[in-house]
Amino acid sequence: MVLYQLPRLPYGYDELEPYIDEQTMEIHHQKHHQSYVDGLNKTLEEISGSFHPQYITSVLSDLQSVPEISRNKITFFGGGFENHRLFWEIMNPNGGGSPGGKLEDSIDVYFGSFQKFKKIFLDTSLSIDGSGWCWLVFNQTFNKIEIMTTKNQDSPWIQNKIPLLGLDVWEHAYYLKYQNRRNDYVESWWKVVNWDYVVNRFSELSE
Ligand code: MN
Repeated sequence: MVLYQLPRLPYGYDELEPYIDEQTMEIHHQKHHQSYVDGLNKTLEEISGSFHPQYITSVLSDLQSVPEISRNKITFFGGGFENHRLFWEIMNPNGGGSPGGKLEDSIDVYFGSFQKFKKIFLDTSLSIDGSGWCWLVFNQTFNKIEIMTTKNQDSPWIQNKIPLLGLDVWEHAYYLKYQNRRNDYVESWWKVVNWDYVVNRFSELSE
C-alpha cells in the first residue's frame, strides 16, 4: 500500500512573517499535519483488506465506500491531510493582492466585488464556533463558486464540492501570534494568499 507523506512546504517556515509567524508554521506543519498523515496511514492500514485505494479526495467524495467503523477516522485524518496540503499551497510569501482573470469575474458575479467577497469570507470565518475551516469552493452541481464552512477537519470533498481556497481557523493556526484575535489573523492572511495557485485551480475546473 502506498503511504501518504508529509508534503514539503513550498517556502521556509519564516517566509510568511510577519503575517504568520515561524513557530506557528513549524509546529503546524511538523506536528499537526504530521499527525494527520500518520493517522490517515494507520487507518488505511487497518482497513486495507477491504478497501480499494484511491487518492484521498476520491475517498472523501465517496465515504460510503469506507467501512463504517473507519469512516470517522478517514473523515478526520484524510480531511486533515488534504486540507493542510492545500492550505500550504494557497499561501506564498509573494502573495496577496487580488485574483484577477476569470476567478475575479466570477467573484464579482456572485459576491458583488472582491472587497465584498473578502468581507463575507471574514464574517463567515468568524462565525465558526470552535475548530473548523472557511472555504471558497466550486459547486459542481450548480457550476458556481460559493463560500462554505466545515467543522473540525471535514473536507468540502465530502459534499462533492471542490475546494479552491481554504482558511484554517483552528486555534493551532494562529493562537501563538494572535491569541483570541481571529479577526486579525484573517486580515493578515489575505496578505499571503497565493492567488496564482487558486486561479490555476479554478481555470482547470472551468475549461
Ligand atoms: Mn491546522
